[in-house]
Amino acid sequence: MVYLNEYFGEALLKTFFGYDSYFTLHETGAHPEQPARLPTILTEMEKQAFYEELIPVKKRVEPGHWIQLCHDDAYIQRLKNACEMGRPAIDCPDSVICPESYDVARQAVAMTLAGCDMIMNQQADNGFCALRPPGHHAEADRSMGFCLFNNIAIAARYLQQNYKLQRILVLDWDVHHGNGTQHIFEKEAEVFYCSLHQHPATLYPGTGWPEEKGTGKGIGATMNLVFEPGCTDGQWIDQFKKHFIPAAMEFSPEFILVSAGFDAHKSDPLAQLNLTEEAFIRASSEIKSVAKECAQGKMISLLEGGYDLEALGSCVKEHVKTLLV
Ligand SMILES: [Zn+2]
Repeated sequence: MVYLNEYFGEALLKTFFGYDSYFTLHETGAHPEQPARLPTILTEMEKQAFYEELIPVKKRVEPGHWIQLCHDDAYIQRLKNACEMGRPAIDCPDSVICPESYDVARQAVAMTLAGCDMIMNQQADNGFCALRPPGHHAEADRSMGFCLFNNIAIAARYLQQNYKLQRILVLDWDVHHGNGTQHIFEKEAEVFYCSLHQHPATLYPGTGWPEEKGTGKGIGATMNLVFEPGCTDGQWIDQFKKHFIPAAMEFSPEFILVSAGFDAHKSDPLAQLNLTEEAFIRASSEIKSVAKECAQGKMISLLEGGYDLEALGSCVKEHVKTLLV
């Protein structure tokens, strides 16, 4: 610890790293959202000097009724039945499932909620969960885009209802628009949702246009920042700092949730942005500063996309290191 403190030049935060090999049982076959994503991340993390400083997250807890805060009972039951019957996919061919997928998706939610508890109980300052299946495309009533349960949306509802938080910020820097998360919160002022993604005219799911700014009481609490194919670190981080950071500071969140997809990386096979690790380091540092300023540091990030294995391992390593130091 002394060595690391000296090495990094200042006190380390208490940062958790959530990992469970159980998440690899969500088998997807020949699919970009493959189980190998997680061991790749773990192998990269274990090579790092700072890995020993990270706190584990309690595993295999019961997610209880919290999934129902964001998803219809009919969808939850439909997913459960589809898995039990050995169906190959649910709702769309992209959302591949296997018999274990329902319980793995439940455990991804459970780990997310356990991470929220650790931060709210001051056992950790912040943390990252390397989980799958991802969540931000999942709508209240259906799966979309590899996502079964909307982990980040359920976390926001849990923080609102279990801990009575009034202002929660969700930052989504996955290269795809988080349609599910936006739709769940777009009528509300208490959850501010900002997504940075490749322009919807050029990438799945085709939503998240800049003029989508929320509805009713939620007008102004949705922000979509879009980027043309080929966008570089400088262009991306400029928009992040110019538009998102001031809005986040004005909103003054009590807790920050990050949908941390790393598929905006230049090596990613599913999108056409040209970011490097540097963009994610700078964004992680900026959002950590907002958390420190407004929320006593409270922040959790959850893995979403990121399909080039080498880039994924490298980006997660840099992101978690930035959370810690
Ligand atoms: Zn994505």
